[in-house]
Amino acid sequence: AAYQRVDLRELLDSTLTMLKRKFGADVTVKVDYDESLPPVPVYAAELNQVWTNLIVNALYAMGGAGTLTVRTARENDHALVEIGDTGPGIPEENIDRIFTPFFTTKPVGEGTGLGLDISWRIVVDRHGGDIRVESLPGDTRFQVLLPLAGPAA
Ligand code: ADP
Ligand code: MG
Repeated sequence: AAYQRVDLRELLDSTLTMLKRKFGADVTVKVDYDESLPPVPVYAAELNQVWTNLIVNALYAMGGAGTLTVRTARENDHALVEIGDTGPGIPEENIDRIFTPFFTTKPVGEGTGLGLDISWRIVVDRHGGDIRVESLPGDTRFQVLLPLAGPAA
């Protein structure tokens, strides 16, 4: 599939709408979009899968109560999309393993351990971007960086 220039707000809002039923009454969603961010050339359907993976992980981590934050910003020649949650965070000993295929801390049947592996491949391998993770108890952020110039050919 070809890539297309899209407004990241629209992609993120459509993912949020699709997942809305999964948000419990005690989850607050905060969005903070950088209005000046230009459309970014991306594989839109693939990126929707990334937002879905990150948001579903965030909701699971919060166990039904907390604040989900979706933010966009410009960082030099990249667009930044940050998905944040107020869950317990990722223990230090796991942080280097979470992108490994089949790594999961969820009970059997609840997690495949593939969400972050797939997300990494879509963002890094397909788009030439990067994913950063910052996690403290109560403040976990997954930051997706996408080159404004688009995926390398
Ligand atoms: P799965 O969701 O099937 O476990 P993922 O690849 O999506 O697989 O995530 C791997 C692991 O990373 C999770 O099992 C969890 O331990 C950790 N993780 C991912 N996102 C978060 C988050 N927002 N808060 C805490 N831990 C997380
Ligand atoms: Mg997952």
